[in-house]
Amino acid sequence: GGGRLCACRFYSSEDSLQLSAEKEIENRMRAALDAGEFAIYLQPKLDLRTDAVVGAEALVRWIDPVRGLVPPSDFIPLFERNGFVVDLDLCVFEQVCALLRAWIDGGRRPVVLSVNMSRAHLADPCFLGRYEEIRRRHDVPASLIEIELTETLVFEDPVGLGRVIDELHAAGYSCSMDDFGSGYSSLNVLKDIDVDVLKLDRVFFDAVDADTGRGAAIVDIVIELARRLRMRTVAEGVETREQAAFLKRAGCDMIQGYLFSRPVPPVEFERLAFGDSFGNGEK
Ligand code: C2E
Ligand code: MG
Ligand code: MG
Ligand code: MG
Repeated sequence: GGGRLCACRFYSSEDSLQLSAEKEIENRMRAALDAGEFAIYLQPKLDLRTDAVVGAEALVRWIDPVRGLVPPSDFIPLFERNGFVVDLDLCVFEQVCALLRAWIDGGRRPVVLSVNMSRAHLADPCFLGRYEEIRRRHDVPASLIEIELTETLVFEDPVGLGRVIDELHAAGYSCSMDDFGSGYSSLNVLKDIDVDVLKLDRVFFDAVDADTGRGAAIVDIVIELARRLRMRTVAEGVETREQAAFLKRAGCDMIQGYLFSRPVPPVEFERLAFGDSFGNGEK
């Protein structure tokens, strides 16, 4: 590093490094998609009443032959800017449908899989047709699929979000609001956003181990509100037994987090959900 006096030069070389890294990713992304380098990991959702695995979220991983396992934070923001995220989401959805089909054929009990849908789809009036083509080709019921839409869309494009949710519902999918509580949403937005599942961001219960009572009161009310609005609740990012016990007392339906399992490859998820031995997740 050049020290404090060279801050300008330091930043500009950082920027060009960043730029060339992004160029490199953009040059490789299409081939990576065709080569099947984008894989899904599944993170279980646990029913707090029964302790059963009742679902999972599909989270994309780039398994690069050179760089190894690349987390979505390294490429999703870029792919949202350049539009490639639309094809990536469809690739994830295709893998989810193929898995559900395999589980149906194998006589597995039904497990709901959720996929993340980028804001980029909202601009496309034909988005549903692409999803439906894939789902029908694999012949899986939409009732086994949940579409996660992030909370920030409530402000970015509330009209587009409402239309997408209506269309997804009409086709039989369920919808969840991801990252609820992480932004600046007010409880009032729930009046107009008709989702089936509320995914509570960990900001709600992160500090619950050292809780003063104020945080607990807020989680209680949000969960009660969700129940009144007939939405199920999933707490995401649950890492401690204390958090899980607290959420159970508060009436939260499901938890998802490192406490039970990290996102794992589908074969490991199958062991967790259908088998009797325990996997221990992504390293
Ligand atoms: P998200 O949808 O909110 O997913 C939850 C994230 O929290 C995941 O990060 C998961 O690994 C992480 N997580 C789960 N449990 C814990 C925990 O106990 N503690 C902590 N600290 N973290 C936990 P991941 O897999 O890195 O994904 C990050 C974000 O990337 C996702 O946030 C989602 O917004 C986006 N993403 C992932 N896959 C896709 C995809 O296929 N399409 C799109 N459009 N976005 C995706
Ligand atoms: Mg999500
Ligand atoms: Mg989330
Ligand atoms: Mg989150």
